[in-house]
Amino acid sequence: MRRRDFLKAITAGVLLGGVDPYSLVSAAQLYPQSRRLSNSEFDVNIKDYLHKMQNFDQPHTGDVVLGKKELTLLRSCVTRLKRLQRTVGHGNFHLLSFDDGLSFARNYSKVGRFPREELDFLERIFYQDSADYGFWGEKPIDNMTTRINKKEVVKIPKSGNYLYRGDPQQKYEKVRKHVGDKLYLTSGIRGVVKQFYLFLNKANANQGNLSLASRSLAPPGYSFHGIADFDVGQIGYGSLNFTGRFTTTEVFKKLDDLAYVTIRYPKNNFKGVRFEPWHIKVYPGV
Ligand SMILES: [Zn+2]
Repeated sequence: MRRRDFLKAITAGVLLGGVDPYSLVSAAQLYPQSRRLSNSEFDVNIKDYLHKMQNFDQPHTGDVVLGKKELTLLRSCVTRLKRLQRTVGHGNFHLLSFDDGLSFARNYSKVGRFPREELDFLERIFYQDSADYGFWGEKPIDNMTTRINKKEVVKIPKSGNYLYRGDPQQKYEKVRKHVGDKLYLTSGIRGVVKQFYLFLNKANANQGNLSLASRSLAPPGYSFHGIADFDVGQIGYGSLNFTGRFTTTEVFKKLDDLAYVTIRYPKNNFKGVRFEPWHIKVYPGV
């Protein structure tokens, strides 16, 4: 397939919503005539998609937003997860499994048991196909109760974050050796509960807009932080490490020169995710 047809097929998928753009690529391969867009339609569509990704933090036409009832549940889940994080501590919260989170909530009155409606809501969010609201990434964790084996992880000094032993830890150390001490780990392993918290907190801050949240935070289950990936930043750069400004740092420039480093969400990716120059893919093929 010619590059232009490939992009057309992808763009058509992106705009249809709820359809994996890659499955449309194969549909286009099978039926090359059926998905042809005119050049001007193609230009408008691709421009629209790229505009959305560049302005990822703003609401856009077609975004999926929770209704009133679900928004109320979202809010109560977020405040409960926040209390849970405070109770178990930030470090432990990175690794907390869903079931352990439930028992902590039950046993600590300052967190409070998750009521049935909140559990149903969380389950719905976890098992819903994220393509419904525009996130087309893979789902490395398909079970909400997946646990992290503490024997398989290591806490990285001064970062407050964990990495899996083996390839992730080795990759981090290799990168740090080549880039220098200014590079540090800004986010490592994030289990299901932590990812729930980050994703829902983002949606909560944006009136329940799931599409907007998913443009910068993978929904629970869909984050590769759960299995291997990690984020790096430059010391002293704080929250700017998670913005486009990171590309102007010395750390990024050195990182960019390393042939073995691959970014999970490059510029203009078709996963429905913003450019994340700080997010390192551990396994290139995965
Ligand atoms: Zn990341």
